[in-house]
Amino acid sequence: MDRALRTEYLRAIGIDIWVPRAPASMPAEVQAVAPADPAAADSPWEALRTEVLRCTRCGLHAGRTQGVFGVGNPHAEWMVIGEAPGAEEDRRGEPFVGRAGQLLDAMLRAIGLSRAHNVFIANVLKSRPPNNRDPRPEEVAACLPYLRRQIELVRPRLLLAVGRIAAQNLLGTEESLSRLRGRVHTFGELNTPLVVTYHPAYLLRTPADKRKAWEDLKFARSVFRQLTAGLPEDGHRS
Ligand code: URA
Repeated sequence: MDRALRTEYLRAIGIDIWVPRAPASMPAEVQAVAPADPAAADSPWEALRTEVLRCTRCGLHAGRTQGVFGVGNPHAEWMVIGEAPGAEEDRRGEPFVGRAGQLLDAMLRAIGLSRAHNVFIANVLKSRPPNNRDPRPEEVAACLPYLRRQIELVRPRLLLAVGRIAAQNLLGTEESLSRLRGRVHTFGELNTPLVVTYHPAYLLRTPADKRKAWEDLKFARSVFRQLTAGLPEDGHRS
């Protein structure tokens, strides 16, 4: 591994002694980096956000503090999709803000991405399941249309599904995560390319697999580069 890759890898796993870390969650003023149009009060994006925050389509609404819509740049070329909000996300209304979120931020930073600038992060479920249990099929069925709509509006070039639950639900498969890694899948009517990697919470429990996650991130980055080769920066989003 050359020095630059090693540095990125060390950053990805959170060993970063001499560079100040980005904050684990984005301060409110940074969230405002999103271009103004989708955030306009009457935009489809804001209408969708309102719908999600008011949603009662499944039983989870009764136990949640708030719906967790997603965070990041609504024009991003990358979208990261997780499973469902945990306790901290439910409390703060933002995905991936606990320990797993800090690792996710470090992983994304290693490939030049941050929720403040160039990625949008969302979950399959917008409401927290009790005791962080796995989402039930009827909950996924009720909530997935929101994610589909988010993907239609953001129109990312690449989706990164983190963890088995997100990957299986997005791809409609029961294949194991290890079989889903290392391939380019597609999602939805736009056939958005989708790459799968480990969930950061799993990586916190199983640090030996961080090396494989790093391989996945490099794979995703090379797929993205191939997809955008020859396109002007920010391509179709001007
Ligand atoms: N795990 C997820 O899958 N999503 C979150 O937002 C937090 C933890």
